Amino acid sequence: MTIVPIRQPIDGRHRPMFIGGLWVEAASGQTFETRNPATGEIIATVPRGGRQDIERAVAAARNAFVGPWSRFKPHERQKLLLRIANLFERHWEEICTSDTTDMGLPIARARGNANRVLGMLRYYAGMATALHGETIENSLPGDIVSFTRKEPVGVVGAIIPWNAPTAASIWKIGPALATGCTVVLKPSEEAPLTPLLIAELMAEAGVPDGVVNVVTGTGAEAGAPLAEHMGVDKIVFTGSTLTGQSIVRASAGNLKRVSLELGGKSPVIVCADADLERAVPVAAMSVFANSGQICIAGSRLFVARSIHDEFVERLSAYAASLRIGNGIDPETEIGPLISPRQLERVEGYLRAGSEEGARLVTGGTRLSHGALAAGNFIAPTVFAGVSDTMRIAREEIFGPVISALPFDTLDEAVRRANDTPYGLAAGVFTRDLATAHQLSRRLQAGSVWVNTYHAIDPAVPFGGYKMSGYGREGGGEHLGEYLSTKGVFIRID
Ligand code: NAD
Repeated sequence: MTIVPIRQPIDGRHRPMFIGGLWVEAASGQTFETRNPATGEIIATVPRGGRQDIERAVAAARNAFVGPWSRFKPHERQKLLLRIANLFERHWEEICTSDTTDMGLPIARARGNANRVLGMLRYYAGMATALHGETIENSLPGDIVSFTRKEPVGVVGAIIPWNAPTAASIWKIGPALATGCTVVLKPSEEAPLTPLLIAELMAEAGVPDGVVNVVTGTGAEAGAPLAEHMGVDKIVFTGSTLTGQSIVRASAGNLKRVSLELGGKSPVIVCADADLERAVPVAAMSVFANSGQICIAGSRLFVARSIHDEFVERLSAYAASLRIGNGIDPETEIGPLISPRQLERVEGYLRAGSEEGARLVTGGTRLSHGALAAGNFIAPTVFAGVSDTMRIAREEIFGPVISALPFDTLDEAVRRANDTPYGLAAGVFTRDLATAHQLSRRLQAGSVWVNTYHAIDPAVPFGGYKMSGYGREGGGEHLGEYLSTKGVFIRID
């Protein structure tokens, strides 16, 4: 069935999903609702895709991979990516509105991501014509030429969470298009609309049918069949560590390649010599941005004891000054959590913090007065007097909650910062160059930011150490994850 899709995904109407260049319904005919987390309103219904739909999407992706897409030259894939980037630029406001309405991201922040997302597309466009193998001298008898070829891995299953639908989709689709792979994207059931809009823009840019497919549905019904599908060559997953582990198990059937961007409990270390004017707002937004629904949230704040009390006071004043509300208002700095379920989860951590003896300095409650009543809002929260063993200091909260922990020596701070199963990111605030270098070496994390946070660039690898996952997104290594290396020997004597 072909349905002409609507452009504005915020008017309560139904949106089909995108398979093989067609806008289609789930084989089961079932649908589910998606809501605006700031108001609780139903903003659209989408197909509840399942195993049969995944089958169909994987078949479409395979046909495209072996068919017309395989004849696209690198410079044609480059041109296509540049066209997509230009189209995204023209429709950027629509993309931002979709993210804000479907998952609550404040529109000012969504707009601010333009350079990052458009930059990713243009970076991958550049890389499309830079792929190459090597000629390698061998020691074999006879006259044999040996070289490597880089070939696209094939059909890529991409599974993403709700918290950054645009960036997460592009971080998966961009390298696939650059390398000549095809994609079946399974967005989060909590925020499926922007990936559908992205599919529409890709089709408009001229991406051939079947190269990018989007199947909406739940993790169990659509995600799991994709992860275990024997016709999928690689899974690229962003989400929780628990789901990442089940993806690895599901991948065993055909030993498909897997890359994982998982959860975190990232430390931020504020040294006694830090520039507090800079450190306070950056440390605060390291965790409050997107209401804490960021994998790299700097949720464990280690502060040198000599400045601890002053820092906590300034941080709390900053937290209390943040403007909270519906993200569609350009003045809003903090939007809602994604769902009532996530709200309940974060409230559980607020209770656990107090019950385990942490001192609540600011926030700590749901906000439900006036216009906030129907949404999932939590006040930016600062706990002090936190010990390393408390749940709020150990578990990923994915909410606007920061725990301040004093330290006495840098050795101690590093040891405690590294004492976590996660290793996604870390922050350091210091004016001392040697401390900056030493800590960036010693912290076990895929990204270390000194005197800044959240810096992510398409050309710089991003990813996790330890249980925050493996594989990298961004940089040359990223493209390598979508390529297979073949060794070729040709006897010429
Ligand atoms: P989640 O793991 O619950 O879901 C992520 C995606 O996986 C969703 O699309 C979901 O439908 C799907 N899924 C769930 N169960 C599945 C299964 N058994 N098989 C296949 N797919 C399945 O995560 P979430 O709650 O949507 O997102 C929050 C988590 O994502 C946090 O832990 C956060 O740290 C992490 N995250 C990590 C990064 C990163 O780059 N490291 C970025 C953003 C979010």
